[in-house]
Amino acid sequence: MPRPLIAVSTPIETLSTPFGDRDCTKLATAYTDAIYAAGGQPAIVPVTADPPPDLLARFDGLVLSGGGDLDPRLYGEEPDSSVYGIRPDRDTFEVALYHDAVARELPVLAICRGMQLVNVVHRGSLIQQIEDDTDHWQTIASHEAAHKIEISPDTRLAGVLGQAVARVNSYHHQALKDLGLGLRVAARCGAVIEAIEAEDAPVLAVQWHPEQMAATDQLQRSLFAAFVSTAAEYRNNTKQEMN
Ligand code: MN
Repeated sequence: MPRPLIAVSTPIETLSTPFGDRDCTKLATAYTDAIYAAGGQPAIVPVTADPPPDLLARFDGLVLSGGGDLDPRLYGEEPDSSVYGIRPDRDTFEVALYHDAVARELPVLAICRGMQLVNVVHRGSLIQQIEDDTDHWQTIASHEAAHKIEISPDTRLAGVLGQAVARVNSYHHQALKDLGLGLRVAARCGAVIEAIEAEDAPVLAVQWHPEQMAATDQLQRSLFAAFVSTAAEYRNNTKQEMN
């Protein structure tokens, strides 16, 4: 059986190169390592103009990666001074990717910015700057947990993790405000929403960075294992003729 093919979205950043300052595709290898270790074949999908509506037809799953902030205009606000790294080209591309994924019922794992994007596409909104983000932007190593989360019972996340409380890392200065339509909260840290899932689509989204913990933390590995296994089922159900 071939590995399920997992599309991974990626940041685009203007970086200094031998050619001058150029737009670059730049993704931490932790994402692709975690997917590969779980049995998936990751494929980074770069930001391109006018993505075709069937871009994800060849794939079995989608990971929406982290990165800079979404343009607050997507949820009807002007950016305040805390907002950083806005790339409207990336926003537009990932919104199209997500619509395509949902239309074909593709399994989606959305991480950090990815979770915020899912909420905004579902017509939710974001807090542009959490009042006190000291607990949520850690200075300890990225594989170490910064805070506790309480997992909502009867969610897919609870089923995957098999426990009511977990400890996760944290690198976000924004958080979900209004929850989008058709979504439910799957985990919280106090008032901060730390995970959501779609009510009628295989979409799981987390505010933390499980890929940074996966090499050393069995619980975070289980998130990727469950996601790749859902992608393998998707592949079996939709691509029989290709096997
Ligand atoms: Mn957090």
